[in-house]
Parts: sequence; C-alpha cells; structure tokens
Amino acid sequence: MSVLLHKEHGLNPTVNVCFFCNEDKGEVVLLGRAYKGKAPMRMITDYVPCEECQEKFSQGVLFIEVTRSPNTPDQPPLYRGDLYQSVPYPTGRYWVLSKDAVRRIIGNDSDTGQKILKKSKALIDPETAEQLGLYNESITKRETSKNNPDEPEPGSGSK
Ligand SMILES: [Zn+2]
Repeated sequence: MSVLLHKEHGLNPTVNVCFFCNEDKGEVVLLGRAYKGKAPMRMITDYVPCEECQEKFSQGVLFIEVTRSPNTPDQPPLYRGDLYQSVPYPTGRYWVLSKDAVRRIIGNDSDTGQKILKKSKALIDPETAEQLGLYNESITKRETSKNNPDEPEPGSGSK
C-alpha cells in the first residue's frame, strides 16, 4: 500500500461517492496525506461511475456535460488535457440517448454523429446541450433539489 500517512489523521479514510448519482460506491478510500485536513465521511474521489450508473450509461449513447472551468473551487478536471487543449470539468448533468435519438439530433451522416455513435460517448458543453434540446429531455438533480415547495416558510419575527 502506498498511502502516505497524514500527520494527524493517519490513513484518513473516506467512503467513495459516485459523482453522477451521489450514492455510496461501497469503497473505502484511504486518502492519507493526499487530503488536506481530516477527510469527510463520504466524498467524491474520482469520476468512475458506480455500477448502477455504469449500467444506465451502457444502455445508450452517453453525453456528459462539461465546462471549461471548475464548477466548484477545488474541482479536479475529468482528465488532464495536453498543454494546448482545454480541460473538461463535468457539471454533474448527463444524458443517455438512444442511437436513434442521436441520429435524429446530430445527424447520421455527419462526421461528428458517426464518431459519437461509434464511441457511444461524448462530452458536451452547456450551450451545445441547450441548442440540441437536451435540457428538455431531462431535469437535473441539482435544479430539482434546490427548492422544496412543500416546505413551509418559517415565520420570521412573529414572536
Ligand atoms: Zn452512480
């Protein structure tokens, strides 16, 4: 094992959480010194999907929405691009489309369409996703969990 022990927190364990669905992946990750301070109980340590998400992803063509700058202050990029390539940061939104939907939306005979169908996977920026109408196909978790209409507004200053 090549964990560098944290001076105060030793092995500094955390439970790995799936980036895409926020569920525990059932793996304990020993962060040791790689994490500044005490590691939280559960955290996202990589972009490897959990089994359930992988299962969903494999049912069609996966579009992962990415931006060119981090979405949270310490967000690591999806992968390191080379010096001249901008590096993608996933937003957490994704779509799994059928091949037919991809043909309909992107076009069967376009180079891009062919490449995407072959790889069954593509990165997409928010503007393009919106232009292609992907936002209408699904609602993101982040947006739906923001407001809870059933929650009564706590009465302020009514003492
Ligand atoms: Zn997942």
